[in-house]
Amino acid sequence: MWKRIKNQILNLLFPQFCLKCNKEGFLICPDCFSTIDLNPFQYCPFCSVPNRVIKKGKCQSHQSFKLNGVFSACDYKNPLVKKMIFLFKYEPYIKNLGFPLSNLIISHFALTQKQGIFNSSASSKKAPLATPSTGSGQVFMPVPLFKKRERTRGYNQSAVIAEILSVAYKLPFQKNNLIKIKNTKSQTEFSKKQREQNIAGAFAIKNPALISEKTIFLVDDVFTTGSTMEECARVLKANGAKKVFGIVVAREGLRI
Ligand SMILES: [Zn+2]
Ligand SMILES: [Zn+2]
Repeated sequence: MWKRIKNQILNLLFPQFCLKCNKEGFLICPDCFSTIDLNPFQYCPFCSVPNRVIKKGKCQSHQSFKLNGVFSACDYKNPLVKKMIFLFKYEPYIKNLGFPLSNLIISHFALTQKQGIFNSSASSKKAPLATPSTGSGQVFMPVPLFKKRERTRGYNQSAVIAEILSVAYKLPFQKNNLIKIKNTKSQTEFSKKQREQNIAGAFAIKNPALISEKTIFLVDDVFTTGSTMEECARVLKANGAKKVFGIVVAREGLRI
């Protein structure tokens, strides 16, 4: 705990250096940022080989899944992306890395010309009398962490990114509606089947009225097999959400 606070203070007091080339004044300097390859396409989230999808977010054989599609900005194999995500999630908990990581997602949407899915003005017209937090037909939310885990880190890394994206695309941000009610084991060492069993029943919705008939943009840092996002999508749709799209910084395990 003390280590985390100390690191946060050090982050504030001292100039930052680019994680790759050490240039002063940046967490990632523009030159190094521009070396990161962005995914030029959207792929089916459930195919383990890159299977390009155009209009629908999943391929024909994966239509029965609850997730409507996933947008991933880049590949987790990129060492700089891996390093950024690691330092964002683990010690020294560089929370400000949320900005360049969100920027990768925003750049990916610009590159693939998919920003059109964010429909802030049209959706607010549909519900002019509703409060700002519930008035839009589209909502950003993070994959939640179990409370204890969030307390250790001081923040939910996915919530940091989801909030930045919600500001960028002028859409509401719901942080504590989808919640994690089970402290699951880390998924890293598990097979796909074990991941599904581990995550089953881990999530709940506090206030279904806030997601009723809405399109949810569910944000996470890394997408691996999709078991976590699929379980979140199942719970969101069982509670009235219309569509659920995943948005992640990086995808892991695609056999390119
Ligand atoms: Zn650099
Ligand atoms: Zn597929």
